[in-house]
Amino acid sequence: MAKNKDSHRCSFCGKDKNDAILLIEGLDGHICESCVEKAYDIIEQEIFDRSTKEVDSPKDSLKKTPREIKEYLDNYIIGQDQAKKTLAVAVHNHYKRLNQNDKDVEIEKSNIIFVGPTGTGKTLLAKSIAKMLNVPFAIVDATVFTEAGYVGEDVESILTRLLQVCDYDVRMAEKGIVYIDEIDKIARKSDNPSLTRDVSGEGVQQSLLKMLEGTDVNVPPQGGRKHPEQKLIKVNTTNILFICGGSFDGLDKLIARRLNTQVIGYSHEAKDKVDQSNLYQYALHQDLKHFGLIPELLGRLPVMTYFDPLDVDMLKMILVQPKNAIIKQFIKLFEYEKIELIVEDDALEFIAETALTYKLGARGLRSICEAIFMDDMYELPSQKEVKKVVVDLEYAKSKLAGSRIEASLKVA
Ligand code: ADP
Repeated sequence: MAKNKDSHRCSFCGKDKNDAILLIEGLDGHICESCVEKAYDIIEQEIFDRSTKEVDSPKDSLKKTPREIKEYLDNYIIGQDQAKKTLAVAVHNHYKRLNQNDKDVEIEKSNIIFVGPTGTGKTLLAKSIAKMLNVPFAIVDATVFTEAGYVGEDVESILTRLLQVCDYDVRMAEKGIVYIDEIDKIARKSDNPSLTRDVSGEGVQQSLLKMLEGTDVNVPPQGGRKHPEQKLIKVNTTNILFICGGSFDGLDKLIARRLNTQVIGYSHEAKDKVDQSNLYQYALHQDLKHFGLIPELLGRLPVMTYFDPLDVDMLKMILVQPKNAIIKQFIKLFEYEKIELIVEDDALEFIAETALTYKLGARGLRSICEAIFMDDMYELPSQKEVKKVVVDLEYAKSKLAGSRIEASLKVA
């Protein structure tokens, strides 16, 4: 029996056999190569949609209680209990808000501000919470932004970073977390709003307001400055959690001044209760306002928490306790050479004290360890008979002495 003429056409788009590169024959019809491609895209999108729904649904994240969230964070961050607790509650509430159906009482967004010295775990904490929630995470530096019309980047490019980490998947980005570092560096220079424009500070703070609160933002896909020919991507920031962090150097003086005026007339007892060694713990929004953050911005960062400076004991714990602690990493590296590495307590103490003495903070721990283990990591792989290395105080001191880092520390 002769086939009808439709048997030589694509059953989906009707393309003629002569116009197609390939016409695949099925039981009851045909499909051309471009319809195969289109079908493939549809399937891929569907699989992706289903998987993201399963992995990232806010309801999943809500299953964790604040206590469980903090326990997770304990695996990565030493100390900073107040900050971990505050963040756990804020994130828990953030997801409650995302799942809110009844809008009789609208729960406001709980963007967060971290106050504390550099190198105390602010970025690490933000990064760890994003990892736990399995959402895109971007770190941006507030100092690169200027208000429109000046040299620098538009604040919209904050969202470019977020889009980039999730391969420009807007839906994923809209659930992400952004950490804005060095927020204190865009403080306005004086507490009094002045008539002259403050390019680096207040203007940038103003331009952040809408984004932090939640709005549609047109984002330049490659960052930098928006320009007319560029195609922009629309991102809604309503569900993006913003965490701002800064060291706020000098804030302690403002806090001290406030506390002093508050306790005047009160007993000495009240004054004595103040822990002078870490005044940052008493920071309030009003102190940040005096520091130079505008009230409108502070209003959009309702949750505030502080970070303790690291002491020797915390630095020691950072060396060994977190899941990917530095010493654990060195032990692993030696293990690959079939060598047991033991770092004794007095050596750990020495490393921590060196980091503290030279004000290197937790970031300096790695370079000190590198200096101590360098010779062994160089020599031992070719000395197969060595099966164990014990690093005690003497050994650590001798290895650090004469190393490049020790020389540079002494000069500094
Ligand atoms: P900040 O953002 O406060 O300047 P980071 O979070 O970038 O500091 O800390 C720098 C590095 O120091 C981290 O990557 C981490 O290795 C280590 N670190 C700092 N504080 C802690 C902490 N409390 N617990 C564990 N590691 C820490």
